[in-house]
Amino acid sequence: MARYTEAACRLCRRQGEKLYLKGERCYTNKCSVGRRSYAPGEHGQARTRKISEYGLQLKEKQKLRRIYGILERQFSGYFTLAESKKGITGENLLQILESRLDNVVYRLGFAASRKEARQLVRHGHFLVNGKKVNIPSVLVKVGDVVSIKEGSLDSVKIKGILEGAASHNAPEWLEVDLNKQSGKVKNLPVREQIDIPVQEHLIVELYSR
Ligand code: SF4
Repeated sequence: MARYTEAACRLCRRQGEKLYLKGERCYTNKCSVGRRSYAPGEHGQARTRKISEYGLQLKEKQKLRRIYGILERQFSGYFTLAESKKGITGENLLQILESRLDNVVYRLGFAASRKEARQLVRHGHFLVNGKKVNIPSVLVKVGDVVSIKEGSLDSVKIKGILEGAASHNAPEWLEVDLNKQSGKVKNLPVREQIDIPVQEHLIVELYSR
């Protein structure tokens, strides 16, 4: 399956801001954005030119793609789906991205980053409504229960994750039950419940060109 292979920190430096792609490291002084605040590559330190309206729209789209780790084609598919739904397209887009299983695992505190969540899902550590699901892009629905597979609970990695999950604050649209190592989707998030600093209207404008 196609996926992002560029190092996470390079993506932040290319974007010019912290995208929090690496979990704990992002909150320490090891973060590359603080240490090297210029884009990677040969021309990274060249003088920045004024960015056009199109450039701004493109940058915002890239930001959202990088945060959720999604390639262009799949992102474009999500946009088409968002447009076909009732309501505000930009908000629909964010809600769809938040509904991805890898994002839900991350939001529940069962992974330190979306990237780690994707890997754990691919390795078959999670169930949705009691059935093993190893496709990170599956979209969860209201009422779905995401749980850690019983056989995975002995894994040192999963034990460490569960310890960390105890101090994690899940968003209010999710309900975590650490005793059952699971979380329930109470409702799908509205814009105010999605803490992604993106101007989604710019992305809608970009696709409307
Ligand atoms: Fe981005 Fe985190 Fe790397 Fe900092 S440490 S550059 S926020 S991925």
